[in-house]
Amino acid sequence: MKHDPAKEQTLVVLKPDAVLRGVSGEIITRFEKVGLKIVAMRMLDVTKELAEKHYPVSREEWVRMMGEKTLENYEKYGISAKERHGTEDTLELGKMIREWLIEYMQESPVIAMVLEGPHACELVRKMLGHTLPLLAAPGTIRGDYAYDSSYLANKSARAIKNLVHASGTVEEAMYEIPLWFDKSHIFSYTRVEEKVMQE
Ligand code: GDP
Ligand code: MG
Repeated sequence: MKHDPAKEQTLVVLKPDAVLRGVSGEIITRFEKVGLKIVAMRMLDVTKELAEKHYPVSREEWVRMMGEKTLENYEKYGISAKERHGTEDTLELGKMIREWLIEYMQESPVIAMVLEGPHACELVRKMLGHTLPLLAAPGTIRGDYAYDSSYLANKSARAIKNLVHASGTVEEAMYEIPLWFDKSHIFSYTRVEEKVMQE
Protein backbone atom coordinates (compact mmCIF):
# COMPACT_ATOMS: atom_id res chain seq x y z
CA MET A 1 0.00 0.00 0.00
CA LYS A 2 1.34 3.43 -0.99
CA HIS A 3 1.71 5.89 1.85
CA ASP A 4 -0.35 9.09 1.46
CA PRO A 5 0.88 11.99 3.71
CA ALA A 6 -2.55 13.64 3.37
CA LYS A 7 -4.21 10.73 5.16
CA GLU A 8 -1.64 9.49 7.63
CA GLN A 9 -2.33 7.45 10.76
CA THR A 10 -0.34 7.45 13.99
CA LEU A 11 -0.58 5.53 17.25
CA VAL A 12 -1.02 7.65 20.39
CA VAL A 13 -1.05 6.13 23.88
CA LEU A 14 -1.92 8.17 26.96
CA LYS A 15 0.49 6.63 29.43
CA PRO A 16 -0.28 5.85 33.10
CA ASP A 17 0.78 9.31 34.36
CA ALA A 18 -1.75 10.99 32.03
CA VAL A 19 -4.56 8.66 33.12
CA LEU A 20 -3.70 8.77 36.85
CA ARG A 21 -3.42 12.57 36.82
CA GLY A 22 -6.77 12.95 35.08
CA VAL A 23 -5.52 15.00 32.16
CA SER A 24 -6.55 12.57 29.41
CA GLY A 25 -9.47 14.72 28.29
CA GLU A 26 -7.38 17.87 28.04
CA ILE A 27 -4.77 16.08 25.95
CA ILE A 28 -7.35 14.49 23.65
CA THR A 29 -8.99 17.91 23.22
CA ARG A 30 -5.71 19.34 21.90
CA PHE A 31 -5.52 16.64 19.24
CA GLU A 32 -9.14 17.21 18.24
CA LYS A 33 -8.72 20.98 18.09
CA VAL A 34 -5.73 20.85 15.75
CA GLY A 35 -7.90 18.88 13.35
CA LEU A 36 -6.71 15.32 13.97
CA LYS A 37 -9.42 12.70 13.66
CA ILE A 38 -9.83 9.95 16.24
CA VAL A 39 -10.38 6.81 14.16
CA ALA A 40 -9.87 4.28 16.98
CA MET A 41 -9.75 4.49 20.79
CA ARG A 42 -9.80 2.14 23.78
CA MET A 43 -8.75 1.89 27.42
CA LEU A 44 -6.78 -1.21 28.29
CA ASP A 45 -4.38 -2.81 30.71
CA VAL A 46 -1.14 -3.28 28.82
CA THR A 47 0.18 -6.83 29.06
CA LYS A 48 3.89 -7.50 29.42
CA GLU A 49 3.77 -9.13 26.02
CA LEU A 50 2.26 -6.06 24.34
CA ALA A 51 4.72 -3.70 26.07
CA GLU A 52 7.65 -5.86 24.95
CA LYS A 53 6.48 -5.90 21.36
CA HIS A 54 5.73 -2.20 21.40
CA TYR A 55 9.26 -1.42 22.61
CA PRO A 56 11.17 -4.18 20.77
CA VAL A 57 14.60 -5.07 22.13
CA SER A 58 15.60 -5.75 18.51
CA ARG A 59 15.60 -2.00 17.85
CA GLU A 60 19.18 -1.98 19.07
CA GLU A 61 20.01 1.52 17.88
CA TRP A 62 17.11 2.92 19.92
CA VAL A 63 18.00 0.85 22.99
CA ARG A 64 21.65 1.94 22.80
CA MET A 65 20.60 5.58 22.38
CA MET A 66 18.70 5.47 25.70
CA GLY A 67 21.87 4.11 27.33
CA GLU A 68 23.97 6.85 25.75
CA LYS A 69 21.61 9.58 26.94
CA THR A 70 21.73 8.11 30.43
CA LEU A 71 25.53 8.07 30.49
CA GLU A 72 25.64 11.68 29.29
CA ASN A 73 23.20 12.64 32.00
CA TYR A 74 25.23 10.85 34.68
CA GLU A 75 28.40 12.60 33.52
CA LYS A 76 26.64 15.95 33.81
CA TYR A 77 25.75 15.30 37.46
CA GLY A 78 28.96 13.41 38.40
CA ILE A 79 27.17 10.08 38.93
CA SER A 80 28.97 6.77 38.24
CA ALA A 81 26.87 4.40 36.12
CA LYS A 82 29.22 1.60 37.15
CA GLU A 83 28.60 2.21 40.86
CA ARG A 84 24.85 2.63 40.46
CA HIS A 85 24.06 -0.05 37.87
CA GLY A 86 27.22 -2.18 37.63
CA THR A 87 27.91 -1.28 34.00
CA GLU A 88 28.86 1.54 31.65
CA ASP A 89 27.84 -0.39 28.54
CA THR A 90 25.32 1.72 26.63
CA LEU A 91 23.41 -1.30 25.31
CA GLU A 92 23.10 -2.79 28.82
CA LEU A 93 22.00 0.54 30.28
CA GLY A 94 19.50 0.96 27.43
CA LYS A 95 18.07 -2.49 28.10
CA MET A 96 17.66 -1.60 31.77
CA ILE A 97 15.70 1.55 30.85
CA ARG A 98 13.57 -0.48 28.46
CA GLU A 99 12.69 -2.78 31.39
CA TRP A 100 11.67 0.24 33.49
CA LEU A 101 9.53 1.40 30.59
CA ILE A 102 7.79 -1.97 30.23
CA GLU A 103 7.01 -1.98 33.99
CA TYR A 104 5.76 1.59 33.81
CA MET A 105 3.33 0.91 30.96
CA GLN A 106 1.66 -1.71 33.18
CA GLU A 107 1.18 0.57 36.22
CA SER A 108 -2.40 1.57 35.36
CA PRO A 109 -4.77 1.33 32.41
CA VAL A 110 -3.77 3.43 29.42
CA ILE A 111 -5.83 5.01 26.63
CA ALA A 112 -4.71 4.04 23.16
CA MET A 113 -5.92 5.69 19.98
CA VAL A 114 -5.24 6.00 16.31
CA LEU A 115 -5.24 9.57 15.03
CA GLU A 116 -5.59 10.36 11.37
CA GLY A 117 -4.83 13.48 9.38
CA PRO A 118 -2.31 15.16 7.09
CA HIS A 119 1.22 14.47 8.34
CA ALA A 120 -0.27 12.99 11.51
CA CYS A 121 3.01 11.44 12.75
CA GLU A 122 5.03 14.63 12.45
CA LEU A 123 2.19 16.80 13.71
CA VAL A 124 1.60 14.76 16.88
CA ARG A 125 5.33 14.61 17.66
CA LYS A 126 5.50 18.41 17.32
CA MET A 127 2.56 18.75 19.71
CA LEU A 128 4.21 16.42 22.26
CA GLY A 129 7.57 18.20 22.32
CA HIS A 130 10.88 16.76 23.50
CA THR A 131 11.00 13.31 25.13
CA LEU A 132 12.26 14.93 28.35
CA PRO A 133 9.52 17.21 29.73
CA LEU A 134 12.21 19.46 31.25
CA LEU A 135 13.42 20.23 27.71
CA ALA A 136 10.01 20.29 26.03
CA ALA A 137 9.02 23.81 24.95
CA PRO A 138 6.13 25.58 26.67
CA GLY A 139 3.00 25.12 24.58
CA THR A 140 3.77 21.46 23.90
CA ILE A 141 1.91 18.77 25.82
CA ARG A 142 4.98 17.47 27.61
CA GLY A 143 6.23 21.01 28.26
CA ASP A 144 2.90 22.23 29.63
CA TYR A 145 1.93 19.25 31.79
CA ALA A 146 5.16 17.87 33.25
CA TYR A 147 8.66 18.67 34.46
CA ASP A 148 10.24 15.24 34.63
CA SER A 149 13.93 14.83 33.79
CA SER A 150 16.52 12.09 33.28
CA TYR A 151 17.96 13.02 36.66
CA LEU A 152 14.68 12.42 38.52
CA ALA A 153 13.73 9.30 36.55
CA ASN A 154 17.09 7.58 36.70
CA LYS A 155 17.42 8.39 40.41
CA SER A 156 14.19 6.48 41.08
CA ALA A 157 15.05 3.71 38.57
CA ARG A 158 11.94 4.39 36.48
CA ALA A 159 10.96 5.55 32.99
CA ILE A 160 10.55 9.24 32.28
CA LYS A 161 6.95 10.27 32.86
CA ASN A 162 6.10 12.23 29.75
CA LEU A 163 2.35 11.52 29.51
CA VAL A 164 2.03 10.38 25.91
CA HIS A 165 3.55 7.90 23.48
CA ALA A 166 3.30 8.68 19.77
CA SER A 167 4.81 6.88 16.80
CA GLY A 168 8.12 8.51 15.90
CA THR A 169 7.85 7.89 12.15
CA VAL A 170 5.40 6.58 9.56
CA GLU A 171 7.25 3.23 9.60
CA GLU A 172 6.92 3.05 13.41
CA ALA A 173 3.19 3.81 13.09
CA MET A 174 2.74 1.01 10.57
CA TYR A 175 4.45 -1.41 12.95
CA GLU A 176 2.68 -0.19 16.10
CA ILE A 177 -0.96 0.29 15.06
CA PRO A 178 -1.66 -3.43 14.36
CA LEU A 179 -0.16 -4.35 17.76
CA TRP A 180 -2.85 -2.29 19.51
CA PHE A 181 -5.84 -2.38 17.16
CA ASP A 182 -7.59 -4.92 15.05
CA LYS A 183 -8.35 -3.53 11.59
CA SER A 184 -12.08 -3.86 12.26
CA HIS A 185 -11.77 -1.41 15.18
CA ILE A 186 -10.38 1.42 13.05
CA PHE A 187 -13.14 3.63 11.66
CA SER A 188 -13.58 5.89 8.68
CA TYR A 189 -15.64 9.11 8.66
CA THR A 190 -15.36 12.73 7.52
CA ARG A 191 -15.03 15.61 9.96
CA VAL A 192 -16.84 18.82 9.03
CA GLU A 193 -13.72 21.01 9.00
CA GLU A 194 -11.85 18.82 6.53
CA LYS A 195 -13.39 20.79 3.66
CA VAL A 196 -12.39 24.15 5.14
CA MET A 197 -8.90 23.11 6.24
CA GLN A 198 -7.83 21.05 3.24
CA GLU A 199 -9.59 22.10 0.05
P1 GDP B 1 9.72 9.07 22.74
O1 GDP B 1 9.57 8.51 21.36
O2 GDP B 1 9.77 10.58 22.76
O3 GDP B 1 8.65 8.55 23.69
O4 GDP B 1 11.12 8.60 23.32
P2 GDP B 1 11.94 7.23 23.12
O5 GDP B 1 11.31 6.37 22.05
O6 GDP B 1 13.38 7.60 22.95
O7 GDP B 1 11.80 6.50 24.54
C1 GDP B 1 10.63 5.83 24.91
C2 GDP B 1 10.29 6.20 26.35
O8 GDP B 1 11.32 5.72 27.23
C3 GDP B 1 10.22 7.69 26.64
O9 GDP B 1 8.98 8.26 26.28
C4 GDP B 1 10.47 7.72 28.13
O10 GDP B 1 9.28 7.39 28.87
C5 GDP B 1 11.49 6.60 28.32
N1 GDP B 1 12.89 7.07 28.27
C6 GDP B 1 13.55 7.48 27.14
N2 GDP B 1 14.82 7.83 27.43
C7 GDP B 1 14.96 7.65 28.76
C8 GDP B 1 16.07 7.85 29.67
O11 GDP B 1 17.19 8.26 29.29
N3 GDP B 1 15.85 7.55 31.00
C9 GDP B 1 14.65 7.08 31.44
N4 GDP B 1 14.53 6.81 32.75
N5 GDP B 1 13.59 6.87 30.63
C10 GDP B 1 13.74 7.16 29.30
MG1 MG C 1 9.91 6.63 20.53
